[in-house]
Amino acid sequence: MNVINTIAPLKSVNNMKVDTSMLQTVNCIPAKSRAVKYIVLHYTGNQKDTAKSNARYFQTGGRGASAHYFVDDSSIYQSVALKNKAWHCGTKGEYYHACRNADSIGIEMCCSGGYQVSKKTQENAAYLTAELCKLIGITAAEVDKYVIRHYDVTHKKCPAQWVADSKEYNEFKEMVKYILKHGTMEKKGEEMIENSKVIFDGKEVPVRRILKDGTNFIAVRDVGKIFNCEVSAKGSIPVLKSK
Ligand SMILES: [Zn+2]
Repeated sequence: MNVINTIAPLKSVNNMKVDTSMLQTVNCIPAKSRAVKYIVLHYTGNQKDTAKSNARYFQTGGRGASAHYFVDDSSIYQSVALKNKAWHCGTKGEYYHACRNADSIGIEMCCSGGYQVSKKTQENAAYLTAELCKLIGITAAEVDKYVIRHYDVTHKKCPAQWVADSKEYNEFKEMVKYILKHGTMEKKGEEMIENSKVIFDGKEVPVRRILKDGTNFIAVRDVGKIFNCEVSAKGSIPVLKSK
């Protein structure tokens, strides 16, 4: 948790400009500074919209809601100064989490069609989240605790697709952690190969693997070792023959 007293410390994220031309103070509670612990992810819940159209909409007072950032497939707009409290996860009723508007940053992901947040928008939001983690002192090990869904705070179904199935939310958090550790997602494919093991009939066999979306991809040569097979190739197709 760090004390934030700045308006717009991020000028760009992953080579994408953070547009601050529509910052507003009419749908938030201005403050000199505030201690920030959480980053809360939302979706706009519109059929299809853009970061720019949302930033413009919230420039008019009386909206009764707001968020610090709006993200779409190709742009990021900041709407509320980070030192100010936005109205993105408040509730009159019971809180399901320690998080409040006062100690959190709200990010709205826009919908690319059919009330869905695209993979690209989620990736852009992951880069933004990683930069904000650095700013407020959230380490990769703390992402699971402090990078949360609106749903986790109030049980509102937001972002709906992350509530219906938490797979994409988990992937999002893994992206944020990866960016925090490596600065980028670009080399992810190459760097994901790791030395691991498989247990076959109670015996450990070392293997090279890629773990992706909960599935293990094991090198064929190592699969051969597990089942005591000779491994050769017919063109690019592996051939396994039991010894
Ligand atoms: Zn929300």
